[in-house]
Amino acid sequence: MAKCAFCDANFETGPGDVLLVCPYCGTAQTTEGKKFQDHYMIRVHFGQGEAQTTLLDWVSKQLGVPEDLPVTAKFLKYEQIWYPFWISRVDAHTEYRGLGRDANFYDEWPQRRGAYKRIDFFWKPESGAFTRRHEINIAGVKNIDEDVRNHPIPTRAKEYFSHAHAEEYDGKVLHSNMTEDQAKKMAYQIAHDRQTNLVLQEVSKIESRDDKIDVGETFLIHVPVWELEYRYGNKKYKASVSAPTGYVIESQYPRSMAFRAGGIGVGLIMLLIGAGLMVLALDVLGIGAILSGGGLVSGGLLAILGLILIYKGASRKEAKERV
Ligand SMILES: [Zn+2]
Repeated sequence: MAKCAFCDANFETGPGDVLLVCPYCGTAQTTEGKKFQDHYMIRVHFGQGEAQTTLLDWVSKQLGVPEDLPVTAKFLKYEQIWYPFWISRVDAHTEYRGLGRDANFYDEWPQRRGAYKRIDFFWKPESGAFTRRHEINIAGVKNIDEDVRNHPIPTRAKEYFSHAHAEEYDGKVLHSNMTEDQAKKMAYQIAHDRQTNLVLQEVSKIESRDDKIDVGETFLIHVPVWELEYRYGNKKYKASVSAPTGYVIESQYPRSMAFRAGGIGVGLIMLLIGAGLMVLALDVLGIGAILSGGGLVSGGLLAILGLILIYKGASRKEAKERV
């Protein structure tokens, strides 16, 4: 329980909640009762009915979904959850010195252009600099679905948080498990890691680096998501739909028996072709050419794909697909 420092109401908080939003007056505040000003939201453009229609429309276009689903599906639950995200703009400049891998090629095979008898690899000193502006997006709650965590947030459309707007849809506004300072520290680390990845595209070994990382504007934004549940036949399926954009973040849906049987058939054919390719590749290897390893790899991959298809076809679990 916490007491709002602005309207005196008592309200529920969970373990780890450190930046609170009062459900009565909508004021964002620290646990010490200090008002947090940089609090934004993305406006709802898809009400409950539109979100449901959009979802059924999307689901009905997925492969193997029973044709009568849009007319027979019944919605059991619909809740609008406002998830908190911390957004930071980070300016990063990295100067680096390191070693890149390079090679000299000698004695091209006459019958195989581009293949050499002798290749000398060596390290070459390289240096350079990267300047980037990163927009770092960190979910403010730990218990969040991976797809909701990673769904695109149109931060340019942000406006100041409106308690009245969230109330219009009976939205549940979640507290944040993270303070502004914690979010900024994490944004610094993420920007540092992204710069490291940029440098590692240029050199294999970093010998020295100098970073100037400036965590600038940081704000809290609440993003509304429709958490839906519908029934088809005697099973229930869950879905998340973005309330600002109607984007289907994720959805479970049923697949018809005919489609599952088809998947098993295609899988078996791929498995057979894959196994055939592997046999061929192994045979050629026996003759002694080393370069035909590609057949083994692609045959193996095809066989694996075939097995996946057979599994998916045979599996009774409902599909969970990303957009
Ligand atoms: Zn209040």
